[in-house]
Amino acid sequence: MSARILVVDDIITNVKLLEAKLTAEYFDVSTAMSGVEALEVIATNQPDIVLLDVMMPGMDGFEVCRRIKNNPQTQHIPVVMVTALDQASDRINGLKAGADDFLTKPVNDIALLARVKSLVRLKVVVDELRMRIDSGEQMGVAMTTILQPPNDLTGNFLIVEDDQNMVDRISHCLIENANHNVKFVSDPQESLYLASSEEFDLVIVSLNLEDFDGLRLCSQLRSLPKTRNIPILTIVDDSEPKRLVRALDLGVNDYISLPVDENELLARATSSLKRKWYADQLRFNLEQSMEMAIKDSLTGMHNRRFIETSFKTAFDKAVSNNKPLSLLLLDIDHFKRVNDTFGHDIGDEVLKEFALRVGTGVRGVDLTARLGGEEFLIVLPDADIDAALIIGERLRAIISDKPFSDLTNCEDLNISVSIGIASFKGASDKVENMMKRSDLALYEAKKTGRNKIFSFDKDA
Ligand code: GH3
Ligand code: MG
Ligand code: MG
Repeated sequence: MSARILVVDDIITNVKLLEAKLTAEYFDVSTAMSGVEALEVIATNQPDIVLLDVMMPGMDGFEVCRRIKNNPQTQHIPVVMVTALDQASDRINGLKAGADDFLTKPVNDIALLARVKSLVRLKVVVDELRMRIDSGEQMGVAMTTILQPPNDLTGNFLIVEDDQNMVDRISHCLIENANHNVKFVSDPQESLYLASSEEFDLVIVSLNLEDFDGLRLCSQLRSLPKTRNIPILTIVDDSEPKRLVRALDLGVNDYISLPVDENELLARATSSLKRKWYADQLRFNLEQSMEMAIKDSLTGMHNRRFIETSFKTAFDKAVSNNKPLSLLLLDIDHFKRVNDTFGHDIGDEVLKEFALRVGTGVRGVDLTARLGGEEFLIVLPDADIDAALIIGERLRAIISDKPFSDLTNCEDLNISVSIGIASFKGASDKVENMMKRSDLALYEAKKTGRNKIFSFDKDA
């Protein structure tokens, strides 16, 4: 997981130290020694993560962070503020400036790598999403995806903690201050049950439970199918670094040290929600683009590409199982007149209503598609020519028996369709030949008066 990290600090030994630690982990490190220099480096050579010292002469870290987060070109870059250990107010100011995470000086190796790796994982998802949206826009496809999570993200959290003081503290921070939904449990078995039966955005596990090893619970959460993907944040005691390393090895996503700083807890909870938000967006976007790849956007029917592939598959099945298969090619009659008389928008409405009516006239196993314009193709698996003629006739009637006037408030909007039908003729038949026969049959139906079905395969 190589990533480009910009280290910003006005003290050269700090810069060198962080650079050495990160380079040893194969990160690609660049450096800047002032806020102004940092902004220049970010503008020319977008890093994946910025580690930003708070105290710098001239422009301080908060101001640099604000500028990064206010610039649409750079606001997606995660910023980690490096603060002095005793400055709780730095964290509040960092959050206000839009920082994504914190590290305290002197920077501890485990913390550094845990934070950086976790932000790199987030950045990968965000970049993927940005790329998809960019390429979608280039193809003229407006994705209904937004790029920034809302500011008031609230989540469902499950907290496993048996210390009443901590429970009070956490509820003050997450419920009273931030409106999150929080469930507390002290029994690990109950937490496993809850985590697998309800939807949580984050499970917070204390590693200091009286009667139970929190690490064991983390491991169980990671191994159950229903809970293995829930993000886990652990509350750890800094005097036990080995347990923290073990937790990170088990796949825990994040941690917070004792004594728990409320701002840090809130920041970690929020960044976990953001991460989930981005992952959900990405999945949604993928589903959308997959749907767009196979669907016609006007009618919601399958598109040409999809039906061509599916028809080939259905054809191969018919060949190998020696089963019937039929094809219906539909073309709306005099559709140009509809546009000319009522306008293009009404034409579109007619196409939608046409698609709906066709949907009511076919079986669940049939595949319907809009090939383009006012031409449609229907694949009828397991239907021989007699069945296909019945379905074709039913569709013809569904379209012409009732005017389309209701839908469009247009008088006398009568629509009819001509249908060419081809049926699988056995092993010597071909995909292209069936297409061709349905096309010729459609032409025949048009030529002999329209509002008709026709097939050359009736006596085959
Ligand atoms: P025929 O009975 O011979 O099929 O006559 P036709 O008018 O239906 O055929 P023609 O191919 O001449 O015209 C098809 C028309 O369909 C022309 C085009 O403007 C219209 N059309 C194609 N796609 C769309 C669309 O997405 N929306 C609308 N409203 N009209 C479309
Ligand atoms: Mg037509
Ligand atoms: Mg046409």
